[in-house]
Amino acid sequence: MDDLQFGTRDKRDHWRPRDPIKPSPLLASPWSMLKVVKWLPHYFYPWNGLFFLTGCIFWFYLTPDVETMKTLEWGWVAYILVRNSVALFLLHGAFELRLYIQRAQGNQFKYNPRWPKETRSNVFMFSSQNIDNMIRTFGTGVPMWTAYEVLMLWAYANGWGFWTTFADNPWGLICLGLVMVVIHEAHFYFTHRMIHSPFLYKHVHSVHHKAVNPSPWSSLSMHPVEHLIYFSGSLIHLIVPSHPLLAIYHLHIAGLGAVIGHIGFDKMVVGDEKAMNTHAYAHYLHHKYFEVNYADGLIPWDKWAGTWHDGTEEGDVRMRERIKLRRERSMAKT
Ligand SMILES: [Zn+2]
Ligand SMILES: [Zn+2]
Repeated sequence: MDDLQFGTRDKRDHWRPRDPIKPSPLLASPWSMLKVVKWLPHYFYPWNGLFFLTGCIFWFYLTPDVETMKTLEWGWVAYILVRNSVALFLLHGAFELRLYIQRAQGNQFKYNPRWPKETRSNVFMFSSQNIDNMIRTFGTGVPMWTAYEVLMLWAYANGWGFWTTFADNPWGLICLGLVMVVIHEAHFYFTHRMIHSPFLYKHVHSVHHKAVNPSPWSSLSMHPVEHLIYFSGSLIHLIVPSHPLLAIYHLHIAGLGAVIGHIGFDKMVVGDEKAMNTHAYAHYLHHKYFEVNYADGLIPWDKWAGTWHDGTEEGDVRMRERIKLRRERSMAKT
């Protein structure tokens, strides 16, 4: 498959898609019902549908019974940690294996021509982006995800919070399930803006930004304080009527779903003439340029704040002008 039919390569061999990325039409202006209906399948397929499915499998088949979870004991907590670690290893590892180890499609649709494995840098532990990112992911990332999940399950088992059942509140749970991704992205956008403030960026978020050429293992490679903030969106399940299945689904969107922006490839080639869109570009641009695309465009927060980058050369120009203007303003103040 020829990726130059879909995009261009600059002289440094960086590939970019030809079409600009657009925020979803959910709250676009002018609003169009037709556009929303056409876009709706993309809300579920492939990613959010997959995480709902994994959430269901985890809740129905891979979660201890309620009686066990009434008391906090190492046995079941360790089990949750291991099952989450295995799930993350399998999903993120599958992308790593196919795209970065087997290099099944070579450089096709790869934004950055360099391979993290071949780029040694002393900003990473052991000078290796992959080793550093895996230590952070499995050292504090999955344990933090697990801590929030254990808190939810333990609270549910003891009747603390506003837990409800599908039989008692079907429409409430369906509505909450449908807006779960919107809730996650809103929490991600505002907390992400917060950790880009100078103090928090320097001491916390810069760890995640060490990867300017992110790969699947970069997804949850964060400072522990960022992990604490990142997964805290799940606390909403203690505030509104919810169900542990939705809490697990929410944590899968955050934990497993972090891989989406860090795949490093615009499309995954799945057949001779077929390729699946990864939706990775908006967040890739955030890693490349730092001050754009704080969220992925489900709700057009970045568009409203003037920080949206659509991936085009015109987008580069707009970004440079915005940063120049901001510098001039701050210099005028001092
Ligand atoms: Zn990232
Ligand atoms: Zn950031």
